[in-house]
Amino acid sequence: MFIIEETPIARAIQNARALHPKVKMIEFGQYEVTGSKGNTYIVRCSRQNGQKVVDCTCQTRDFTACKHGMAAVSLHIAVARQRGH
Ligand SMILES: [Zn+2]
Repeated sequence: MFIIEETPIARAIQNARALHPKVKMIEFGQYEVTGSKGNTYIVRCSRQNGQKVVDCTCQTRDFTACKHGMAAVSLHIAVARQRGH
């Protein structure tokens, strides 16, 4: 779990761009991300107290951004914009 507003995310964004994890929307706020070794993770994006909270099932420790989370967040934000959230 990490909070977008409170976490350094530049490196995770770089990793996401370099590795192109595949992101599939299960439902709004819940995404399936396929990692570089073909394993899949579930990422949940939600808003708590006005902050974007990202929760990924990978081993990355709490309060550290992971590439799956960032890949899911970029899709989440795009979908949220389309829906006018
Ligand atoms: Zn992850």
